[in-house]
This record gives sequence, structure tokens and C-alpha cells, in this order.
Amino acid sequence: MTPPPLLPLEDALARLEEAVQPIPGYEQVVLNDALGRILDEDIHSPIDVPPHTNSAMDGYAICGSDLPTEGETTLQVIGTSSAGHPFEGTVQPGQSVRIMTGAMLPPGADTVVMQEHVGLEGETISIGPHHKAGQHVRHAGEDLARGQRVLSRGRLLTPADLGSLASLGFAETRVKRRLRVAFFSTGDELRPAGATLAAGEIYDSNRYTLHAMLSRLGVELIDMGVVRDRRDAVEHAFLDAAAIADTVITSGGASVGEADYVSETLARLGRVDFWRIAIKPGKPLAFGTVGNALFFGLPGNPISAMVTFYQIVQPALQQQMGMEKSSPLRLHAVCSCPLKKRPGRTEFQRGTLQREENGRLVVSSSGAQGSHILSSMSRANCFIVLPAESAGVQPGEVVEVQPFAGLI
Ligand code: AMP
Ligand code: MG
Repeated sequence: MTPPPLLPLEDALARLEEAVQPIPGYEQVVLNDALGRILDEDIHSPIDVPPHTNSAMDGYAICGSDLPTEGETTLQVIGTSSAGHPFEGTVQPGQSVRIMTGAMLPPGADTVVMQEHVGLEGETISIGPHHKAGQHVRHAGEDLARGQRVLSRGRLLTPADLGSLASLGFAETRVKRRLRVAFFSTGDELRPAGATLAAGEIYDSNRYTLHAMLSRLGVELIDMGVVRDRRDAVEHAFLDAAAIADTVITSGGASVGEADYVSETLARLGRVDFWRIAIKPGKPLAFGTVGNALFFGLPGNPISAMVTFYQIVQPALQQQMGMEKSSPLRLHAVCSCPLKKRPGRTEFQRGTLQREENGRLVVSSSGAQGSHILSSMSRANCFIVLPAESAGVQPGEVVEVQPFAGLI
């Protein structure tokens, strides 16, 4: 029997985008608990930010019309405006008010002259030419105007967003409830870290990798351990998981032949498709539903599981979490070593990206690229993304890279 044709990555992503629904439910949280959560409301500014026109410098607030085009002008100093303590009065032509950075500009004044640029004598200042009317003034609402949309529903909240919300006076915000994800490993050979291995056994690493990748997404984690390759064990695990989780993720047993209990159980409890996706490492991915939960069956090989998770499952989970669509940063870099590849599948090779002194980005392979070699994934700081048609890379060629981390 010939296997079905490989599904291009873009088609797999499009199918998931079509199939996945955002979960309902939200909660109100204080700002300090909102980092990394998904905003569940549109935020409009209730005020101008800054709320009042203020000085960008320490100096003197004056009427711009008093500025001399040549020679010097002398102005009377009639008071002081400091941050939090505005001057109570109006500045008339011929007058000035000493002003500090952030202090409210008094009515009548529209210009600030830096203190270093005036001559001070008793209660008067002298100002020379070469100033501009309106200078060194921050206008009310120039950051955010009252009524303006500041943040949109679906936004993954960043430190700057939380600062913006605080600057508008919000102490709390409404976020989507956390997605509940249950996950387990399948395989008779797997033992948890910390146990002693018998002949033929290996440690279960996928559950730790998955735990970590899911933690970064801010989901609620339900770690269900290792499930034996037995019909009743697999069935119980799926029933338990589907009863408490929005999404169930497994690793292992997704390749045809081995997947017997998984596919058989899923056929009974829900429905599942086995996709052969045109990526390397990765390829087999099971996608379906168990009860009311979504189901993703990742391949067992540790790097296949990670690549499939990052490239396919993570965007689907983010959509389920109610997050707006985002495209991970991709850059161009010069590849400093040869990379082997056969045309046909999109490859996510593991690389080390560096910036040379001249600013050029250079990437090289982080080591052996087998789908079971975690050490080269561990050393890597980016994926080198090679398109399906690529037949390998020569040193000096430009390739696309996807850095693992940025400022978040
Ligand atoms: P499978 O998809 O079950 O055929 O597994 C493919 C390969 O990945 C086999 O070498 C398994 O031993 C290995 N493997 C499966 N699950 C895990 C796991 N949780 N941790 C580490 N290796 C695994
Ligand atoms: Mg297995």
C-alpha cells in the first residue's frame, strides 16, 4: 500500500487554523499577575497620557513669542513649577516660571528654555537667539489620547503593556482563563527520570521537554506520567485526560503500526487523523478530538516531538488560548558550514547563530542532526529553516533562521 502523499506544512497549519476554536472563560487579575496572559478585552484610554502638558527639561517655561531672533531678551521669573506641584497662575509675555522635568506647563507658557541656556540674575533671566517656540514640551495625550484604542483583545501581555495599563490608571485587567493541557508519554521502554533502568529501557525525556515548552506558554499543566502500551491503560489515560483538560498531548506511538492502541482507542472515544507532514524532523502527527478535548499525538523521537510542537502544535494552542496570530521572528544569516539535505520536506535543522564584529549574522550547525540527538538541540539557539525544495547548503550561502529566544 502506498502511503498518502506528504502534507505541506502550510496546509497542516491552515487545517488547524480552520479546526481550532478559542476556549471560553476569563478572569480578572491584578496587573502584577497579568504578564504573559492573553487580554480578553479591548482597552481604550480613559484619559490623556501624559495627562497634562509638561516640561521635558529642567529650565524656564516662557511664551514662545518672547524668544529673540537676535540679541537677548530679559524676562521676569514669577514662580516655580515642579513635578507634582504646578505653578498656580498664568505666564504673561515678559514673564517666565522656573520648571522641572515632568512638571506641568503653566497656562500661557508654550516653550521651555533649558536652564543651561539662560543667564540668571536675581529675579530675571536673559535668553539669547537660536531657540524655537514650542521646544522641550511634552503635550497632553501625545503618548495616548483619551478614547484611543491602546490594546486589543487577544494580545499576549508584555511588560510594556502592563506599564501602559498602569499609566491609564487600571489596577486590574480581564484575561482569558488558562488553557488546561493534559499530557503523557506512551511506551513500555520509558522510565521516569530518577528511576533505575533495566535492559532495553530509556528515560522519558519528552515529558520534561513538553512540561517546559507548555510552561512557557502559560497553560495549566496536567502531567499524567508514562502510559504503558496496553489497551486498558491507554483508554483510561485518554478518558481521564479528556474529562479534565481542554487539550490532550501525547508523545510516542504515533507512527503507523505502533499506534494500534492509540488509534483504536481514539476511534472509540473520539476521532483522529494521522497526518504525514512534509517536515523533518517530525512527519507523523495525530490530530483529533477525545471527548470535548482536542488531541495532538506527537512523534516519540525527542527532536521530532519538539519541532512538531513548536512549528505546529504551539500555534494551535495559542489560537485555542485566544491569542492573536503571531509569526515568530525569522532572520537571514550566512551559513558558515555545509548542510546536508534532500529535496522534499521543510527541514528545521538546529543551529548556533552568532553576530560577528562587523554586525553580520552567521549560523552554523549545532552538531549531529538525528531526530534523537537532544544534545545538539540543547546547544542550539535557533532553527535553520530549509525550504522543501532545498538540496543542501554550501558554506557562504544565506539561510533563514528562527531564533529560539528574544526579549520577552
Ligand atoms: P515511537 O513514536 O513510540 O515509535 O518512538 C520513536 C522513538 O522515540 C523510539 O526510539 C522511542 O524509544 C523514543 N521515545 C518515545 N517516547 C519517548 C519519550 N517520552 N522520551 C524519550 N524518547 C522517547
Ligand atoms: Mg513507542
